[in-house]
Amino acid sequence: MIIAGNWKMNMTKREAVALTETLVDYKRNNNSNVEMVVFPPFVLIDCVVNFAASILHIGGQDCHANDSGAHTGDISASMLADAGCAWVLVGHSERRNDHHETSAIVADKARAGVRAGLNVMICVGETLEDRNAGHANDVVAAQILQSLPEGLTTRFAIAYEPVWAIGTGKVASPDDVDGMHHHIRKVLIGRNSAYENVDILYGGSVKPDNAKALLGLEHVGGALVGGASLKAEDFIAIANGAR
Ligand code: PEP
Repeated sequence: MIIAGNWKMNMTKREAVALTETLVDYKRNNNSNVEMVVFPPFVLIDCVVNFAASILHIGGQDCHANDSGAHTGDISASMLADAGCAWVLVGHSERRNDHHETSAIVADKARAGVRAGLNVMICVGETLEDRNAGHANDVVAAQILQSLPEGLTTRFAIAYEPVWAIGTGKVASPDDVDGMHHHIRKVLIGRNSAYENVDILYGGSVKPDNAKALLGLEHVGGALVGGASLKAEDFIAIANGAR
């Protein structure tokens, strides 16, 4: 099971190192099958990697679709790999909204991650309007099919994050989460039967008090955590909910 923390645009160097050290300590002393991944802002990757000691896996929150070139302000997947990252997150709803990233762009970024040797975590999720209109399953299926590069054979994960649950304190009901994860599994297997064991994470206001119930659902393979990943005790409590 993967417990991943998306730090977004938060943390100073000192806070990042302290949090990393605490998480590494936890992993060293708890022989669990939980794989911990954190996605720090780009400028913190270097210092976090040094303290992560290959115990905590590090990822970039985004990458450019190209490997290098004239793209001011962007970071390539190969730069992330060179900095010691094992993962890259693509298609987060904040990227889709704030930067108008389509699923086709997300797929190009995922391909760049694969070329760089990174594991790719692809985010999908419906808006409240989609859900209220009864379109959640169709929207999520389309996002997966369009964001997932054809013929992907390296490791990837899907993070299902209903947009209306991100940072709002609203959580999808266990039935809705499990149902959607089951649907996502069927969509993945429809694309390729080898995707039977791909990790499907839930994200959207996961907190210590709801983690166990969500992570205990049959079709949930982990969590992508935003706000609660910034505090060591909360993130560890969520990881404990996965054990
Ligand atoms: C996220 O940003 O991926 C996320 C799920 O945020 P939060 O846990 O704060 O809702």
